[in-house]
Amino acid sequence: MSLVRLDGVSFAYGSAPVLRDVDLAVVTGDFTGIVGPSGSGKTTLLRLVLGAIEPSAGTLTRRPGLRVGYVPQVETVNWSFPVTVAEVVLMARRQRRLAPWADAAERGAAIAVLDRLGIAELADRHIRALSGGQQQRVFLARALLGDPELLVLDEPTSGVDVRTRHEILHLLGELHHGGLAVVLSTHDLNGIAAHCPTVVCLNGVVTGMGTPREVLTPDVLEATYGAPMDVLEHAGMPVVVDRPSAHVHQQPTARQR
Ligand code: ADP
Ligand code: MG
Repeated sequence: MSLVRLDGVSFAYGSAPVLRDVDLAVVTGDFTGIVGPSGSGKTTLLRLVLGAIEPSAGTLTRRPGLRVGYVPQVETVNWSFPVTVAEVVLMARRQRRLAPWADAAERGAAIAVLDRLGIAELADRHIRALSGGQQQRVFLARALLGDPELLVLDEPTSGVDVRTRHEILHLLGELHHGGLAVVLSTHDLNGIAAHCPTVVCLNGVVTGMGTPREVLTPDVLEATYGAPMDVLEHAGMPVVVDRPSAHVHQQPTARQR
């Protein structure tokens, strides 16, 4: 049985739909990357999967009692309030219960999940004092504290360096191997080609769905991004490269001039 299933789902914030006729099933064992240009509806699709918004048309079914963890896009988080890493993680439980304080068991559970992600020593640090990759792990820890069956992440690899990007994807791969279903959005086509067994290409509609090899083709990429892209092969994996347009190519660089 699917954890979450969308059949012919459309969604509009105003009059014009931003997602049209989307069919998508998320099942146990999935590790799915959603790619598409800015404004293509990635965040909207994740919010539908989460149950934060309801479809304007079509049907969305969620397995009753499904536990979902959410890691929002770091750039959308308001950092103006002073909180420590442990406090951010413990916010997960405050959304579920009324007591404003955490008991020793809850603090212990928070430290255990930070430990699992290799950042227990950061527990008392201020969240603003951390690197992008460390902040990403803190939000991952918060999402994991509720012991989710499905983890939804919005651009977890944006704004971090290459090494951190691979660390995050590797970490998500390990969680996936441990039985967690993972759905994420990303701009990192080559990262998902290397790490995600399933790729969904989005541009208001689903332009492609399948393995990286099936989906990362010049035709699907052009339908998704509206720009020509080349796909090479490296170490048995597809690698996507931008193809400079003829016009751009002919411009002399400043140095040549
Ligand atoms: P992505 O995450 O791929 O960048 P989004 O799902 O955020 O795309 O946005 C899809 C479209 O919906 C965009 O055109 C965006 O401007 C619009 N949109 C997103 N959120 C809202 C909102 N809260 N109200 C109105 N329009 C929105
Ligand atoms: Mg987005």
